[in-house]
Amino acid sequence: MNILAIGAHPDDIEVFCGGTLLKYKQQGHDIFIALTTSGNIGSNEYDSREEIAQVREQEQLEAAKLFGAEVKFLRFDDQGLQDTPETRRAVINAIRWANPDVILVNYPQDPSTDHAVTGKIVSEVMLSIPGKLIPADEPPIAKNPSLFYYASAVGIGFEPEVYVDITDVYEIKKEALTMHKSQYAWMDVYQTHGLLDILEITDKFRGLQAGFVYAEGFRAFRIHGYMPNFKLLP
Ligand SMILES: [Zn+2]
Repeated sequence: MNILAIGAHPDDIEVFCGGTLLKYKQQGHDIFIALTTSGNIGSNEYDSREEIAQVREQEQLEAAKLFGAEVKFLRFDDQGLQDTPETRRAVINAIRWANPDVILVNYPQDPSTDHAVTGKIVSEVMLSIPGKLIPADEPPIAKNPSLFYYASAVGIGFEPEVYVDITDVYEIKKEALTMHKSQYAWMDVYQTHGLLDILEITDKFRGLQAGFVYAEGFRAFRIHGYMPNFKLLP
């Protein structure tokens, strides 16, 4: 299968669904990552958005090596993502590029606006993927992928419907997250917990809920005439 993980920022994929992607990789599936923004405001160590984007994209490419993933950067501005014809077109292109059987994306009710808008756009273009008259650059695809939402930031307002046991890949997930070095300086100054702390707490909590040591939780996208296939999760 082709698995597409879409995120708003570099590090979203590693934090929220990195373990699940590693499970898919173990099973021999092809992994694709698309990011709507390059997190180009997520640092105070650089003087321009372009510099930050460059650093964060490089960090994302390093992390992606652990998933064996191909990466597509859509390069909209961090902390200001909006649902527009331009962002929709870019997201449709990314989905068609990956030709996915499964899509994992941010939760549309996530308190982070970039996360919520990314989840909302993906949900709303699902019915556009096969349409040849939809404004896009990539040709339509015939597949009807299953769409699952990964957790909101630190799980606020997010109740999983299904869990993936990531215990045996948890150490590699941590390693992938440590590639996002610029975010350690940022989180240490602006947050009460560092990235690895957040990972340990949230993944262990989901594991506790599900009867595993570490887990990631997901919810399914549903719309009339469309039922996601839970059996496609690893
Ligand atoms: Zn994020």
